[in-house]
Amino acid sequence: MDAVLIQTIIIGLTGLLCGAILAIAAHFLSVYEDPRIEKVTALLPGINCGGCGYTGCSDYAKAIVTQSVPINSCKPGGAETVLSLATALSVQAVATERQVALVLCNGDDTYAVRTATYNGIADCLAAEFVSGSGKGCRYGCMGLGSCSRVCPVQAIRIEQGLAIVDPALCIACGKCVTACPRTLIKLIPESRSIHVLCRSQDRGPDVKKVCSVGCIACTICVKTCNGQGITMEGQLAVVDYSVPLDVDAVVEKCPAHTIHKRSGLKPGNPA
Ligand code: SF4
Ligand code: SF4
Repeated sequence: MDAVLIQTIIIGLTGLLCGAILAIAAHFLSVYEDPRIEKVTALLPGINCGGCGYTGCSDYAKAIVTQSVPINSCKPGGAETVLSLATALSVQAVATERQVALVLCNGDDTYAVRTATYNGIADCLAAEFVSGSGKGCRYGCMGLGSCSRVCPVQAIRIEQGLAIVDPALCIACGKCVTACPRTLIKLIPESRSIHVLCRSQDRGPDVKKVCSVGCIACTICVKTCNGQGITMEGQLAVVDYSVPLDVDAVVEKCPAHTIHKRSGLKPGNPA
């Protein structure tokens, strides 16, 4: 027989054999994936921020389908996503309010005293290791922008040494919350508008030495709202964001100007 013909037959048979092996392997080694996972993944925003606690949207989709985890953990997706997931999976939608990030400090360079000059790496964590960015308050925003660098939607700007979140842009992924070494950033329901912008645990006279808008623990706000919405935690007044607080007088009566009324609502969202 012609040598070329023999080689052609051998190559052909080898190809057939490999194809058969691959087909058998595909049949026995293939992992079944519930088609609903793909469907649910498509309903999530696809930004893979990790705010839901999973490594990405498809991981969260898998957990929803295979472990029946709650469908309201995607903060960037908000109520709209919850509704479409509930419809697709024929489950009840759980009402969720959109959340936004808030920096609990108002000590920019106008109000906060600088006690040293910081010439180190422009990173909050690095500065924290060497006792801060030069601002006298050891609880306040260092303004070196570690939070703004991790924000996937550029919702945080640094102005006069202070981080400021634009609530209209924030998708509540929580990356800034994790990035801030001073735990100054909190995710709050967007409708909450009264905030104590301070995290200092120092006593009033010590606060005054380093910041003119820090909480001095006078407790006037707590008395004004009868403890319904603001309570004292050590030397600091703290807003309880789980309940609505609409006593505007707390803003006016705060002698240290630490309490502010600031809307977190996205334009067009109902109050
Ligand atoms: S401000 Fe914070 S929570 Fe909001 S999108 Fe940026 S990193 Fe995420
Ligand atoms: S909020 Fe935190 S991470 Fe952001 S600039 Fe201030 S100290 Fe740094």
